[in-house]
Amino acid sequence: MKSNFLLKLFWPEICPFCGRVSRQGICDGCLEKLELLAAEEPRCMKCGKPIRSGEQEYCYDCVHTDHYFEQGAALWLHREPVNRSIYQFKFHNQRAFGRYYAEEMARRYGRTLRRWDPTLILPVPLHLSKQRKRGYNQAAIVAGELGRLSGITVDDGILKRVRGTAPQKSLAPEERKRNIGGAFLVGRQERKRLAGKRVLLIDDIYTTGSTMDEAARTLRRAGAEKVYYLAISIGQGY
Ligand SMILES: [Zn+2]
Ligand SMILES: [Zn+2]
Repeated sequence: MKSNFLLKLFWPEICPFCGRVSRQGICDGCLEKLELLAAEEPRCMKCGKPIRSGEQEYCYDCVHTDHYFEQGAALWLHREPVNRSIYQFKFHNQRAFGRYYAEEMARRYGRTLRRWDPTLILPVPLHLSKQRKRGYNQAAIVAGELGRLSGITVDDGILKRVRGTAPQKSLAPEERKRNIGGAFLVGRQERKRLAGKRVLLIDDIYTTGSTMDEAARTLRRAGAEKVYYLAISIGQGY
């Protein structure tokens, strides 16, 4: 799968982080920066946010909130150059970056994935009007690539976004919950495909987790056994 031929065929010609031309994909400068941003230990046992001290088990958010997902993790902290890379991926048609993110997920979280043992991968959906405008759902691209790498079934028709919402980043945590409440739906037909499944949700960014939580709540109520998540980037926990 990782033959040079395939790498040449699919690897972006530019560094997915700084955008400079780079035949090897990610450039050395960004690689160095990313090592410092890798969302690794110590991190929250629940949401995967890096936390300051290894003595805590959970971040501040998770101590104060019950989540509907079992556990989750992300690749990097949402800082330069990761935020820029995701922005390009989302808004400037850099879909090829999705393969790179998925490969990183498979490489870094392969063991975790085997432990979670998901039977279904679902991307967090966009509202249709937004997806039409953008032309694609970035989370679905990463989900598709991860499905191809892992052999786990991807189904992006089960979870739907039925309500447009204000951008979460403009809101305080409590407002975020209200804003996203009832935004997702699993249709009657789709419930059959979800019954008893262990779901891995894929999204680009995890901040307060209210989007992931609402998606997980909707899936659990519609019959999913357990919900996990992987994201490209995540905020810092405390
Ligand atoms: Zn770079
Ligand atoms: Zn947490």
